[in-house]
Amino acid sequence: MKSLVFSAPNEGRVKISEEPLKIMNSYCQSKRTDAEAGGMLFGRFIIDSNDIVIDDLSVPMKGDIRKRTYFHRSVKNHQEVLNLVYEESSGTCHYVGEWHTHPENDPSPSDIDLKNWHRVMFMTITESNLFLFIIVGITRIRIWQGNKKLNQIIPLELLEKETMDI
Ligand SMILES: [Zn+2]
Repeated sequence: MKSLVFSAPNEGRVKISEEPLKIMNSYCQSKRTDAEAGGMLFGRFIIDSNDIVIDDLSVPMKGDIRKRTYFHRSVKNHQEVLNLVYEESSGTCHYVGEWHTHPENDPSPSDIDLKNWHRVMFMTITESNLFLFIIVGITRIRIWQGNKKLNQIIPLELLEKETMDI
């Protein structure tokens, strides 16, 4: 599986690297009994550009609530993963957003998702005003970008042929 590149409205691009893509897809709810999964997204803000690269993520763990159409991420355990990733990357890998799965082919956010995403933007202090939100559907993965300053969440478009060498 290759990495995916999406276009952002600020003329930046968002790359999901191969490894996190592989991990997210392994939680795809293709069976009728599969529960939702999710976690934090970690990545890099590329200097002198609006580009963001997703390099890593946290996966479901103890303390999360996982149901067929519901996922709640524990705060503390995922935060510990973030701290570890941040340390191990010497402070280059940051929190960039959230991901979770949906038991539908082409996923779209529920009202609860949108509320959660706005709450995440409101509550989280990061280096950037930008946040990424991924939903992994059964046949398709989609990504939204939240802009804290504009209090806006918009879908990003997949650039089918684009690759990013970073
Ligand atoms: Zn959802």
